[in-house]
Amino acid sequence: MKQFKVPSSKFKVNRSTCSFSLLTLYVLLLTVLMSCSPKKESIYRKTMIQMDTLVTINVVAESGEKADMAMGKAFGEIDKLGASLSFFSDEGDLSSINRNAGIGPVRVSPDTMEVIERAVLTSERTGGAFDVTVGPEISLWDFAAKQKPDDGKIRERLGLVNYQWITLDKKESTVELGRKGMLMDLGAVAKGFAADRAVEELKKNGIKSGLVAVAGDIRAFGLKPDGKPWRVGIRNPRQKGKDDELVATVELRDMAISTSGDYERYFVMDGKRYHHILDPRTGYPAEGCRSVTVMATDGVSADSFSTAVFVLGPEKGMEVLRRMGFEGLIIDKEGNMTTTAGMKDAIEFQRSN
Ligand code: ADP
Ligand code: MG
Repeated sequence: MKQFKVPSSKFKVNRSTCSFSLLTLYVLLLTVLMSCSPKKESIYRKTMIQMDTLVTINVVAESGEKADMAMGKAFGEIDKLGASLSFFSDEGDLSSINRNAGIGPVRVSPDTMEVIERAVLTSERTGGAFDVTVGPEISLWDFAAKQKPDDGKIRERLGLVNYQWITLDKKESTVELGRKGMLMDLGAVAKGFAADRAVEELKKNGIKSGLVAVAGDIRAFGLKPDGKPWRVGIRNPRQKGKDDELVATVELRDMAISTSGDYERYFVMDGKRYHHILDPRTGYPAEGCRSVTVMATDGVSADSFSTAVFVLGPEKGMEVLRRMGFEGLIIDKEGNMTTTAGMKDAIEFQRSN
């Protein structure tokens, strides 16, 4: 059979041809890579009033349209959660749960079930320093009117505060408050939960880097276009000047951070400061700290533990942070600052402090 004879010389490697084609390939590859490389990215920011507070979302995106679309979805998610978890709204899961206290179980959404489950977990881990059934006490205090409630009333209502009287039925997706007059208040955990959900929504919509701040409950992911991590400030709980003074700034690398302070809602009477973070054992404002900042991988942990550690005070609070593996900064009632060991890598104190 006749065979095709291929001249062997054609297959000889010719060095100059090879380097030329490699160069061509390299140039070609570069051109392709350049045309595939993302357009210049920028930070897009939007602020809205939601959950009775300021919500700011920052995203890194190649275009305003992409940023708008993703931010719209995230704001939508926060709005939905705000409606169902608000203490003051007459509709939504939380108000149904409260209206049915001592009456019977209420069917709730999976989100509501999750946030309450997580809140109960924080209560268990902090011996009840965190307690979402603190509602009957909270509703006695009017910080805007600077009114201190009657001591007898405070004592009386303590009998309605106990997270152990919350019954969760995951199978039926129901929540029940065991005693008439009980009131659940998710104010110390809902904002962190909303930040978590908003971040999920941004990621689902193709955003690789962003920061969601639901008031002081902040969660960040990815890096900014300059390759640096997001950075947030921690307020000085005792402002000297008019402007927002910081005690420190913190680098956030895929982390959530939350600060609970005695300067958010408060009044001073006879030289004593009364504020909105209550000790569930007494019904009075917790006294050991001025502010507590907690950094964790999720917003619910950061939010609920910043409140819980505030109630526990500097020593027990620091112990709980260590046990939980969270990082944090505690400013005690004298203004002394203590951080967990790991926080030192992320925090930068302002010089004036
Ligand atoms: P902020 O709402 O200012 O971010 P926190 O996250 O610490 O601060 O939440 C404080 C709110 O949580 C209060 O306004 C009240 O509704 C509720 N709360 C107060 N004390 C407690 C407590 N010991 N456990 C759980 N929730 C609390
Ligand atoms: Mg909180």
